[in-house]
Amino acid sequence: MIVAKFGGTSVADAAALRQVQAVVSSMADEPGGVIVVLSATAGTTSRLLDIARRAGSGEPFEGDLSDLLQRHQNIATELTGNADCVADLVSACREFAHAVAELGEWNDATLDAFCAFGELLSTTIYHAFRRSSGLASSFVDARRLIATDDRYQNASVDHAGTHVRCSAELLGVCSTGNVIVTQGFIASNHAGMTTTLGRGGSDYSAAIIGACILARQIRIYTDVSGVFTCDPRLVPTALPLRSIGFDEMRDMASYGAKVLHPDTLLPAVSASIPVYVLNTFRPDDRGTCITDQIVTHSEPRGVSVLNDVLKLTVRREIGTLIAQNELVSSSIVLTISSKDTMTICVHASTAQSRSAVDAIAHAHEVRTVPQSIVAVTGQHMSDANTVADVSRCFAAGTDTAQICVVSDTCVIGIVERDDAHACVRSLHEMVIRRQGPGE
Ligand code: ADP
Ligand code: ASP
Ligand code: MG
Repeated sequence: MIVAKFGGTSVADAAALRQVQAVVSSMADEPGGVIVVLSATAGTTSRLLDIARRAGSGEPFEGDLSDLLQRHQNIATELTGNADCVADLVSACREFAHAVAELGEWNDATLDAFCAFGELLSTTIYHAFRRSSGLASSFVDARRLIATDDRYQNASVDHAGTHVRCSAELLGVCSTGNVIVTQGFIASNHAGMTTTLGRGGSDYSAAIIGACILARQIRIYTDVSGVFTCDPRLVPTALPLRSIGFDEMRDMASYGAKVLHPDTLLPAVSASIPVYVLNTFRPDDRGTCITDQIVTHSEPRGVSVLNDVLKLTVRREIGTLIAQNELVSSSIVLTISSKDTMTICVHASTAQSRSAVDAIAHAHEVRTVPQSIVAVTGQHMSDANTVADVSRCFAAGTDTAQICVVSDTCVIGIVERDDAHACVRSLHEMVIRRQGPGE
């Protein structure tokens, strides 16, 4: 069995979904079949979140909502000849938005239930497209598969409960030649309410399902041909990596490499399932295999950057309290403790997380400093020569980097935002120099 996840740009429109169809067809002989996990179409989750907030705040939303729904109806019509398959979802989505507007408020539970329409629409269209093309397809609602706690917007998975649900719902329909279509990102709590796994969480959904059914492979299809030495949009000379270790990849993803949700690897590691990152639009490119069975190397191999970081330096006992604070704990990316003080770096990527950090800083009368974290990942990164090399590269980009060896697979520098790009470039040149072209 293979679990194949396709991200937002891979399902963005009718042409992209035709390409998904071609890629899935190439796995037709896979014993046990294929589970296809889809994201919402590109940009849809952000737009739905915005619409729900505006509806709940008494602001106009109808134009944007109609636009978004019409776009999905057009995709359905292009692929199946009419928009019947999404008619119920379109009405339900409209009704939901109007109910939020009438209530005049929104909360995290509302946002989760509303943004689920993104994944429900993309999967419903793809399932109907397969059926109308005469291809096998079973539709399974991911909220019947993945069980979570009640932390709306960023729920924690109940792995035991999910295992029970996946066995009950999937094993009967997993068969060679069959394709099961389900959603990434969405799940449900024990009361049956919709929850979500955090932004970019469809990768994680694929890994959770893959681990439960003991898939042979988990494939993450996206818009680049694998994991590169750096984000190719940021550094065009970045090179694809043929393979990468689980630990390195987790560090890279935790410090900004958006290509994979950082939690994706945990379920895969525990079940020893290799994860491949592949390009939907160039499916024959080699891509990257993420596994714990790679030839060891002793070179830095990846550079990533996390912006929107707020740094607070506080007395140690206050730091311990902040680290336990429910509103920020899940956004903390790094804590560095010394004898008396603690430096805490929070990834404040949303307005809510920013205001939570501001409130804490205000309560404890400390200043927050906007920073970026630049990470260099590889094997044996704590080696003294490597740390010296990394430090030299940081020095070429800034004279204020706070460098820290996070683990044997990762060294980071906390730097001023304006200096981050220069540090990334200088570190990436070093990575390419030490690694040689083409890995
Ligand atoms: P999807 O919608 O398929 O989940 P994402 O946008 O979440 O895709 O992730 C793919 C993007 O990740 C790429 O377009 C690329 O710009 C970015 N990215 C960041 N770091 C890396 C990296 N080291 N290697 C490859 N892509 C990266
Ligand atoms: N649709 C969700 C998001 O945009 C999940 C995902 O695409 O992975 O965050
Ligand atoms: Mg993604």
